[in-house]
Amino acid sequence: PKEALGFGWLDATHPDDKEPTAKIYLTANENQKPFYAEYRLKTKDGTYRWAVDAGNPRYDEAGNYLGYAGTVFDIHDQKIATLELAENREKYKLLFERSPLPKWIFDIDTLQFLDVNETATRHYGYSRDEFLKMKVTDIRPPEEVDRFKSEMLASYQPNQIYIHKNYRHVKKDGSIISVEPSTHDLILNGRRARMAAVVDVTERLKAEEIQRELLQSLEAAKKEAEHANELKSAFLANMSHEIRTPLGAMMGFADLLKDPGLTASERQSFIDILSRNGESLSVIINDILDLSKVEAGHLTLEYTDTRPDQIGADVISLLRVKAREKDLVLNYTHDETSPASVVADPNRVRQILLNLVSNSIKFTQFGSVNLRSFACKNDRGRDALCFEVSDTGIGIPLHQQEKIFEMFVQADGSMTRRFGGTGLGLALSRSLARMMGGDVVVTHSKEGVGSTFLVTIEDQPEMRNQTATEFSRQTTDQQELSDQILDGVKILVVDDAPDNQQLIWRYLTKKGAVVESAENGYLGYRAAINGHFDLILMDIQMPVMDGYAATQKLREAGYKKPIVALTAHAMNEVRKKAFNVGYTDHLTKPINSKELISTIVKHLRS
Ligand code: ADP
Repeated sequence: PKEALGFGWLDATHPDDKEPTAKIYLTANENQKPFYAEYRLKTKDGTYRWAVDAGNPRYDEAGNYLGYAGTVFDIHDQKIATLELAENREKYKLLFERSPLPKWIFDIDTLQFLDVNETATRHYGYSRDEFLKMKVTDIRPPEEVDRFKSEMLASYQPNQIYIHKNYRHVKKDGSIISVEPSTHDLILNGRRARMAAVVDVTERLKAEEIQRELLQSLEAAKKEAEHANELKSAFLANMSHEIRTPLGAMMGFADLLKDPGLTASERQSFIDILSRNGESLSVIINDILDLSKVEAGHLTLEYTDTRPDQIGADVISLLRVKAREKDLVLNYTHDETSPASVVADPNRVRQILLNLVSNSIKFTQFGSVNLRSFACKNDRGRDALCFEVSDTGIGIPLHQQEKIFEMFVQADGSMTRRFGGTGLGLALSRSLARMMGGDVVVTHSKEGVGSTFLVTIEDQPEMRNQTATEFSRQTTDQQELSDQILDGVKILVVDDAPDNQQLIWRYLTKKGAVVESAENGYLGYRAAINGHFDLILMDIQMPVMDGYAATQKLREAGYKKPIVALTAHAMNEVRKKAFNVGYTDHLTKPINSKELISTIVKHLRS
């Protein structure tokens, strides 16, 4: 009391409360009425506490007004609690009612909704009343209700906050959303309750899913590109090996041939090696060209009568030597059922079979290789011609039986060294067969026992190309051409490459022809008009005037004699264009002497 005396009571009042408290007191004081004020009073340690001050006027015995006597109660704790409650209500309103997230409170035991906020009604499409009649299980896909119930009951723990993942809710319109509710368990009016704030993650998950898919497809594309790249590198390595091998042999033996001391038989054997390697080089290059044409969609087929027996015989006669070298039996059977002929591209059919039968010979050490033709249907049920190639070779493991048809792929990388090859043959064969409405497949194959391949070629009479020329490549006729078969025949050779000119000159003069040369189209044209040639061999690509222009000019001038194109272009388009400008026939370099002579003979006769 000693310390308290001497203070003005307003001195002890909290600065914020001074003015309102003074006002209450002064107002009461005017007519000496009791007053009631709540304000903060300073304690000895300098902190403030809420107090309620009930003031009453005081008089002395004579009735003179003395002032007020206040009775002060410390209400600090209640006051704080009340203030906090009000604040909490405000907070609750802000957090629950005005939340941008759908929120609700439900009874853990009855599952009934106890309260929902406006966002929830907007997001789910139910009104507040509808919500309060429902249970939380009503907004879940039926198949998830059991899991939800068991998880929920197991997890109830007051004042514990959880975030639940992988939940799904159903809106009033039936649409399903993915949600991640965070929940807070509490006791509400004595009931076990849970408050939930729902984050709709449908869009996020969708975006993530799209992102994931995108990433996966990118990954796949990258892998594919890398794989293609690897194949290509392997292919190039292989290819350069495949090309260098015969080329190396050719150059080496050509060099050896310069030695004047060689015996006749050595010389002959070197020459054989040279021509054998040249041939295999030409096969490789043709395959690459064909495949690149198929790839680019530039390969055109020439549909005409295709006779299986003829093609079978061709294939056998071309590969007989190879089979004999390995002591293999090589047979062709033409089934009685087999159609005598179908309409397809016979050259391409032959090419496919040459590939397959060569493979069979290559991959067979002992036994036989059989080729058989018969009638069948293609996979669209149309009439077709089938060839079956079977061997008693090394076989192909099951998991490789489809892979080997991919470009550049060989059943086993290590085989490259053992058997050579480029991995192009089957890819090309299948592409060609598919272009002709058929296919090439492995029908069965067993390691160490052998393989059977089936070729299907659709009969497509409607494709018969009326303008198709019958200048098929004369690969088969091994008929001997007598030495002087071109005796006295006058031939003009128009070619800008001196080596080629000389080669052709030698081929022709050996058979008795009289040969003159010209080194470009213009000179060729002049020579032809002024001379008396029986036939002209005319290159296509030449300086000054090319073969097309020269031939056209000659035909326009009424020139009647046969003009045969000689070209390094194996493309059908080139052949077509050649016929259109007036060439009589077409031969592809590298020139095969027999083919050259028999073509010349054919045209001289006709
Ligand atoms: P290449 O013969 O030039 O390697 P192919 O495309 O013709 O290319 O063949 C691909 C691969 O398929 C061969 O390397 C070989 O592993 C396998 N293959 C093809 N034909 C046979 C066969 N008749 N027997 C065993 N394996 C074969």
